[in-house]
Amino acid sequence: MISQELIDWVERQSGRLNKHFPVATKREGLFGRVAKLTEEVGELAEAILASERLQRQEKLDGASSAHEAVENIGAECADVIITTLLLAQQAGVDINQALAHKTARIDARFEKSQKGE
Ligand SMILES: [Mg+2]
Repeated sequence: MISQELIDWVERQSGRLNKHFPVATKREGLFGRVAKLTEEVGELAEAILASERLQRQEKLDGASSAHEAVENIGAECADVIITTLLLAQQAGVDINQALAHKTARIDARFEKSQKGE
């Protein structure tokens, strides 16, 4: 599901991050990655609020165009995905296996609900 190219890039990025922001323990690394993911989710929420003009006027005064707003949402979605993949890598998760398992469960749940079970 996730390309090998992206997984390899995440591995390289993880190495670069660990070099610039060394951590003493795996736990410290996991907490750092969760904090970063939380930051990125917040930035995505902010991009969506900005695109819908649901922010305070001070923030809206420098607002971007509709096209830029969609680009910002895309950039923040990418940050959330990349940061999630970095977290999965840090945790030792096989993300493709996890995604295959999860999507199969969602499909099964949906099919069951369609049958009225
Ligand atoms: Mg971001």
